[in-house]
Amino acid sequence: MDFEWSPAQVERYQQIMRSARAQAVPATEHYVRDEWRWCGQLGLFGLSVPRRYGGLGLDALSTVYAVEAFGHGYRDMGLAFGTSAHLFACAMPIAEYGTEELKARVLPRMCSGELVAGNTITEDGAGSDVTALATKAVRTPEGYRLSGEKSFVSNGPVADVVVVYAVTDASLGFLGVSAFVVERDRPGVEASGPFAKLSRRCSRSPCGGSARACSPRTSGSWTGWSRRAAEHSLLGHL
Ligand SMILES: Cc1cc2nc3c(=O)[nH]c(=O)nc-3n(C[C@H](O)[C@H](O)[C@H](O)COP(=O)(O)OP(=O)(O)OC[C@H]3O[C@@H](n4cnc5c(N)ncnc54)[C@H](O)[C@@H]3O)c2cc1C
Repeated sequence: MDFEWSPAQVERYQQIMRSARAQAVPATEHYVRDEWRWCGQLGLFGLSVPRRYGGLGLDALSTVYAVEAFGHGYRDMGLAFGTSAHLFACAMPIAEYGTEELKARVLPRMCSGELVAGNTITEDGAGSDVTALATKAVRTPEGYRLSGEKSFVSNGPVADVVVVYAVTDASLGFLGVSAFVVERDRPGVEASGPFAKLSRRCSRSPCGGSARACSPRTSGSWTGWSRRAAEHSLLGHL
């Protein structure tokens, strides 16, 4: 078995690292949209997303190598963290489990960097114990109505779209949790500004906002807590 990086993987690594090193970091407290769109042009948001939705369709190893190149080259780790949260905790679960209509609508714009996405699991009473979610999703004639409050949402304060985890059937325990994609402009959705943090202070990433999600109609949903969704979330912490 050959454990060497392929020429294509090395070329991509070098290209991303060179671009990242050459890019000036703006003198702003948090990352700005121009930086985000530039990350989209670098291809960071679509690394592992299938090509038909605007991504590069790379395998897991090529993907993490490219992410490493960005972290190696760019001086703002907060942006590196935010881009990974966007790709691994939002784009990939949508690519794997979203409806075709949802994927076609949001993934190309997530890959290009037009949209910023946030993943909302954590709540004040549900951190390590993600099975203790209080956010609920109730079926309505129009779709689902979500009510609850989330916390520590990376990219949350500026997110255009959030993946919200909510209880759809409490009797099923952790299997009764479903994920919904909620657009920021839905009625009732509110987001706070960024939290002050003890660490990751070099980060201008607005990690740690909170979002209140209460939407009369959500678009695209998929049920159940799955091993693969969890893997994607873990990958996002690389
Ligand atoms: C920078 C940053 C970005 C984040 N981004 C996101 C995001 O995008 N989306 C999101 O949903 N969440 C996000 N989070 C939240 C993160 O996932 C939670 O902080 C994490 O799940 C831990 O939850 P908690 O902070 O409530 O700590 P707690 O669960 O309250 O844990 C506090 C302490 O108790 C310990 N502990 C907990 N349970 C046990 C146990 N059973 N036995 C022994 N020890 C235990 C823990 O190890 C920890 O030391 C982010 C957090 C940070 C800091």
